[in-house]
Amino acid sequence: MEQGTSMGSDSFASNRGPQNYRNITLITEAEAREAVRRYVSSSYCCCKPRAEEPAIERLTQMPIYRYRLDTFTETRHIEKTCKPYTGQRIDAPDREPPPLLWGIEVYTPKMFHEGLKRFPVPRSGEIKTCHKCVGRGRCKCTRCGGSGQFRCRCSSSNRQKSRNKRCPTCSGSGRRRCSKCSGRGRRFCISCKGKGQLFYYLQLSVKWKTLRSEVVSNPHEEEPNFPLILLQKVTGEVIITDDDVTVHPLAGFTDVPEISAASEKLIQDHQNACGPSCHVLRQHQTVEMIPVANVQYGYSGKSLSCHVYGREGRVYTKQRLSGLACGCSVM
Ligand SMILES: [Zn+2]
Ligand SMILES: [Zn+2]
Ligand SMILES: [Zn+2]
Repeated sequence: MEQGTSMGSDSFASNRGPQNYRNITLITEAEAREAVRRYVSSSYCCCKPRAEEPAIERLTQMPIYRYRLDTFTETRHIEKTCKPYTGQRIDAPDREPPPLLWGIEVYTPKMFHEGLKRFPVPRSGEIKTCHKCVGRGRCKCTRCGGSGQFRCRCSSSNRQKSRNKRCPTCSGSGRRRCSKCSGRGRRFCISCKGKGQLFYYLQLSVKWKTLRSEVVSNPHEEEPNFPLILLQKVTGEVIITDDDVTVHPLAGFTDVPEISAASEKLIQDHQNACGPSCHVLRQHQTVEMIPVANVQYGYSGKSLSCHVYGREGRVYTKQRLSGLACGCSVM
């Protein structure tokens, strides 16, 4: 897609500019009243709320823009690994050397689905003698040092000797068989599974991951008391959506310059986060407008205020509604 380079009409769904979206994402008086009514009734402790509708006195719209950038990346690295050689087919570097890191063909993953996969690198296989057992398939037992037996405890006990009793552990022989190697002194080599040979090859690890960053525009200067962190749990109206292999910064977003700046910065940040071993496969950027309104309302003879935010119509206020309580001791 070519959009994203300008804020021309085709950057927006349905050819509408950001200004036009304000109208459809505003919080209406009816929505504000309903949100406040729900909030007021949930603030009562145990008694039923009075059948009183909050009266909306003033509604100040302060919609906030949220910019999100998702970058789906593929990170690769190669390491040498080995497994027992059991006669498998060897893809050896015959005439051609193994391919370079990004020359290895790997299937295309489903975009924005994270995961980790390992692949053998073509033409990288070779067979070597097992370093652990030097090709014998068996190693010296580490417990008995290869002798297959130990001295029995009775051989150092004078008391036992003097009584001249037959030791039940060694039947009087003074030596006891090593249980780890069953007295053989050698054990099966685990590294090569007793085959004596190892199959070495290069293994490519591929990790797919999504980087996500978001920025919200500053709210109205006269409304500095609304905690922006609350917006993480609500949704707004998506007004721009742009998906491409790599997206371009959203320029010309004159309405909210922070969004253009954030877009430019975050695209750069995501690019910087990728090095030679990490490639960007896909990017997705969106701008959402989240409705937020400061609501002043009258209830129970008092003038109160709160913020109603998100399409979910959530309410935030610092004011306690204790004055509205039923008077019971729980409040
Ligand atoms: Zn003994
Ligand atoms: Zn042993
Ligand atoms: Zn071995």
